[in-house]
Amino acid sequence: QAKKEARGGYRLVSMTDSRAAEDRLVLGSALRESLSRGMLQLHYQPQIEARTGEIYGVEALARWNHPTLGNIFPSRFIAVAEETGQIEAIGSWSLEEACRQLTQWDRDGVRIPVVSVNLSAGHFNNRGLASFIGGVLQKYGLSPDRLTVEITESVMMDESEETMKVLSSVRQIGVGLSMDDFGTGFSSLSRLTRLPLTEIKIDRSFIMNLESDSNAQAVTTAVIGIGNRLGMTVVTEGVETEAQYDLLESLNCDVLQGYLFARPMSAVELGGWMHQPRQLMSAMINQHDQRI
Ligand code: C2E
Ligand code: MG
Ligand code: MG
Ligand code: MG
Repeated sequence: QAKKEARGGYRLVSMTDSRAAEDRLVLGSALRESLSRGMLQLHYQPQIEARTGEIYGVEALARWNHPTLGNIFPSRFIAVAEETGQIEAIGSWSLEEACRQLTQWDRDGVRIPVVSVNLSAGHFNNRGLASFIGGVLQKYGLSPDRLTVEITESVMMDESEETMKVLSSVRQIGVGLSMDDFGTGFSSLSRLTRLPLTEIKIDRSFIMNLESDSNAQAVTTAVIGIGNRLGMTVVTEGVETEAQYDLLESLNCDVLQGYLFARPMSAVELGGWMHQPRQLMSAMINQHDQRI
């Protein structure tokens, strides 16, 4: 900003600046309204156990289809939610909605072991988080090991005693704790040992470059090794090709998530997916096993 002003002598408002400002105004209030009227949705993306091809769990991902503004990408409305102070409300809503859906699947005979929900940094400054989560689990009669919360590295970087307390209180009630998008932040591997994590998710950017980039492969190998050694489940996100699958399986990655298996889908679609393409999935795994 300062540079632009110095160089041009006038302030140049970039497209991205005005877009962001407009987003905050228009989308911010529309989002508030949609959220209060229960007009957001969750989609669910399956996570597959690499060894067996069985379902390990699903990740809940927020979706916003506004009646007049249309379908708004998560990257956009999540940013708006962060800037307009609504990200915690979205997380709390996601958590409750995912738990409600999980009991619905249980009743419908759709066997989903675990649901993962994305929470943001603000939640972990909140001393009441564990009791909020406990309350939701109780309301839906779910055992705590059916729920995992995903947090990004920036939350984990906050070494304040307060955050550490909240993290351990959540872990203490028996809910899984997953570090999302691992490798994109600056946390050190040694930090992993000090956090009460049950799971690490290696960021998609590493998986994307797995075949072409020996650095990405080195990092992925190291993180899988350390995660396994520390007794954590290692998940990779963004698995799109058979080649990536082959490589990740040979590296002993536990769980795979990505378009190769399934895109995020509505709860109803997931129910269908769970019944019908399971044979496809095991055929895929069999084929895969025969090749190696
Ligand atoms: P994330 O938690 O890392 O979620 C994974 C993202 O990768 C999802 O994007 C998913 O659709 C996408 N993805 C999965 N497999 C593949 C693949 O094979 N290829 C590619 N190219 N992409 C894949 P999505 O749904 O757009 O969500 C973006 C981000 O928004 C999420 O990243 C998460 O950080 C955030 N988000 C979504 N829902 C919530 C929520 O309820 N609360 C909070 N705080 N954040 C949310
Ligand atoms: Mg996530
Ligand atoms: Mg992720
Ligand atoms: Mg990601």
